[in-house]
Amino acid sequence: MKTLLIGEYREGKLLESTYELLGFASQLGAETAFLLVANEFQLPAYDGMLYLADVDICGEYNPDLHKKLVLDAVKRENPDYIVFLHSSYGWDLAPRVAASLKVAQISEIIAIVPGGFEVGSCNAKMRRTVKPNGTKAVLTIQAGAFPSERTGTSPKVQKLTAESTGALEFLGYEAAEKKDVDLGKAEVIVSAGRGIGKKDNVPVIAALAKALGGEVGASRPVVDAGWVEHSHQVGTTGQTVSPKLYVACGISGAIQHLAGMKKSDFIIAINKDKDAPIGEVADVLVVADVLQFVPALTQKLQNV
Ligand SMILES: Cc1cc2nc3c(=O)[nH]c(=O)nc-3n(C[C@H](O)[C@H](O)[C@H](O)COP(=O)(O)OP(=O)(O)OC[C@H]3O[C@@H](n4cnc5c(N)ncnc54)[C@H](O)[C@@H]3O)c2cc1C
Repeated sequence: MKTLLIGEYREGKLLESTYELLGFASQLGAETAFLLVANEFQLPAYDGMLYLADVDICGEYNPDLHKKLVLDAVKRENPDYIVFLHSSYGWDLAPRVAASLKVAQISEIIAIVPGGFEVGSCNAKMRRTVKPNGTKAVLTIQAGAFPSERTGTSPKVQKLTAESTGALEFLGYEAAEKKDVDLGKAEVIVSAGRGIGKKDNVPVIAALAKALGGEVGASRPVVDAGWVEHSHQVGTTGQTVSPKLYVACGISGAIQHLAGMKKSDFIIAINKDKDAPIGEVADVLVVADVLQFVPALTQKLQNV
């Protein structure tokens, strides 16, 4: 089985998540080739075939032109799977490639399971297993679902180029609005999940954060419910954090949340469900009611 992995390069840098494509291919037990639109001085730590298009000519994004590059690499490699990250780049380009090749597309894969690929459904509350009909497919993988892997130092480079149809022009990136809290720099984060029950309980989490000298984080339902500002959200559609200590309070551990915090040095999860998936990444899982445990812990810390 062979995969063509589509790496990502943004604002002059190879994205770290590019290495998750290699982790995915390795779990699949597949051969790999890479396509990257980048600068030749920023190549991935990889020892296989890398099709490289010059970013100064092809731009960091241009759907028509990048699709041509992918199709060219597909012709040369004849892969079974063409694999993108489930990012704004991947979710825009992958369907264009699938439509051109007239093959299936499976989006937002979170695991490889016997008989197919697992993807989230019902706002990631459930999982379903799907498999493509036919031997080829275009896939996108969820951020953080597969481990990063490096396989070498210097790829075998073959240069590709293509010309734009001129239908679209990439104008550049616009920085997101400045956030009132920069969780990326916090050493301690105490995050509230749906398990805290209601907005009135946010101060319970904020008090623990204060006692630990940290910031308040939150899972998406807490933000969607308006209990906490979006600038505090951790996860794929929030901030990616790597504090020394992350305390997850009443958070189940959905893949989209884990993607934003699993690189934390030490993770404590407080959950009344001993089988909550957060337990798989937590260094310590406290099985308790968050509304009993957290105030008691805060009080102890205040008395130290
Ligand atoms: C495209 C997309 C992007 C997403 N982006 C993000 C993102 O950036 N960040 C994010 O967090 N999510 C994101 N999500 C949502 C994600 O899939 C989950 O739905 C969400 O993370 C669940 O939040 P939660 O763990 O707080 O809630 P739940 O999954 O409802 O879990 C609540 C947990 O609290 C526990 N609990 C309940 N009561 C108590 C109690 N009294 N004491 C202790 N424990 C208790 C329960 O056992 C449970 O484990 C995204 C989803 C999609 C589809």
